[in-house]
Amino acid sequence: MSTAPVPQFLFPDTASIAQDGSLAIGGVRLLDIAAEYGTPAYVYDEQHLINRCNVAVEAFPDGVAYASKSFLCREMARLAQRCGMGLDVVSGGELFTVLSAGVDPSQIVFHGNNKSNAELAQAIEAKVGLVVIDSFDEIERIESLSPAKPVRCLLRVTPGIEAHTHEFVVTGIDDSKFGVVLGNGDAQHAVDRIRKSKAIELVGAHAHIGSNIYETFPFQKAVEVLEPFVIKNELTELCVGGGLGVAFMEGDSVPTITEWGASIQKAVQESNLPSDIRVTAEPGRSISANAAITIYTVGTIKDVPGVRKFVSIDGGMNENPRPILYGSPYEVFLPRSPEAIRPMKANIVGKLCESGDFIMKDALIPADTAVGDILATPVTGGYQYSMASNYNRIPRPPVLFVRDGDVKVAVRRETYEDLVRLDL
Ligand SMILES: *Cc1c(COP(=O)(O)O)cnc(C)c1O
Repeated sequence: MSTAPVPQFLFPDTASIAQDGSLAIGGVRLLDIAAEYGTPAYVYDEQHLINRCNVAVEAFPDGVAYASKSFLCREMARLAQRCGMGLDVVSGGELFTVLSAGVDPSQIVFHGNNKSNAELAQAIEAKVGLVVIDSFDEIERIESLSPAKPVRCLLRVTPGIEAHTHEFVVTGIDDSKFGVVLGNGDAQHAVDRIRKSKAIELVGAHAHIGSNIYETFPFQKAVEVLEPFVIKNELTELCVGGGLGVAFMEGDSVPTITEWGASIQKAVQESNLPSDIRVTAEPGRSISANAAITIYTVGTIKDVPGVRKFVSIDGGMNENPRPILYGSPYEVFLPRSPEAIRPMKANIVGKLCESGDFIMKDALIPADTAVGDILATPVTGGYQYSMASNYNRIPRPPVLFVRDGDVKVAVRRETYEDLVRLDL
């Protein structure tokens, strides 16, 4: 087993080693952030987010929306919009958040396999740029709202592609709750149905084939599979969704956003699709995940000789449910010595009343890890904060944006008062 230091390619773009040998993000030492703002905390490299958004806009010049479910707060919505990205939302709550951040409604794409009447009405009233129709029922639901103008829509189809990823997050196969099936003719029936409707203007087709995908060929395959459908129905936009993976661990290798975009543009150019087709995408994780490091304080270390060591931190499944949901692994390191070798094996566990509450099993950490240390997990910017809960009535950590030596509180730490604000 390797005892190598934490791989630095997992760190956000502006990560650097400070004079004291500790890790800094955006020019601020993580140890200083922990001292001032407490732990746990999600620390985002703002420049990293900007860099990824800019690269996505270059890779998809016809339009690209940030999948806000991976990480959303108002500051993030504003950042994405400033970089020229649209905003992809999947619920009335996400829609409300981006609207309240001042995002231009025409740049919003509204998704969801079970949008309520109220959510659809909210989207239509706000004049969102696109609604992505996910089912036959939704066609009728939109008609029943009698919109003043036809609602611009994409149709989400399941192209029947199984991308190499964790099975819980595969959404492109026929056995999926999302979209209408291409292979059995449902997608064509949906187009025929929509074309009879005065309430809907069908603009294009949408396919999202999965999440955390480590190769480009499934996306090229999706273009190939959708090509005849798009041509036959004279659609003017093809959205390939999101799903590009990120490296979480030593040894993970993934295409960049630039390589991903280029492979899709190439597949379109080599197809018979019209040259003026709009090719769009919705990356989430590949924008947000590597941008953040979560910092914790070690509270107890329990050594059961011959069994294992347990290192308890002040977070857990409440602020990062991905390990228990998906078995997702994380590298673990100490910001005070990011270049230290990590010969000690331990389970990094949270503070919740569940035996299954862990951040990483058999993690490798420096041998001198001690109670009181600040401990950190990189690549925790996507699907951590957005999936966090108040289980055990633990307040959610703050979201901190760091850039050029400054720390901005994008979301403050929850208080105990926040926890009871909805209670009678
Ligand atoms: C989740 C989702 C995305 C973003 O996926 P990532 O894996 O975060 O890139 C994009 N589009 C749709 C429709 C989604 O459901």
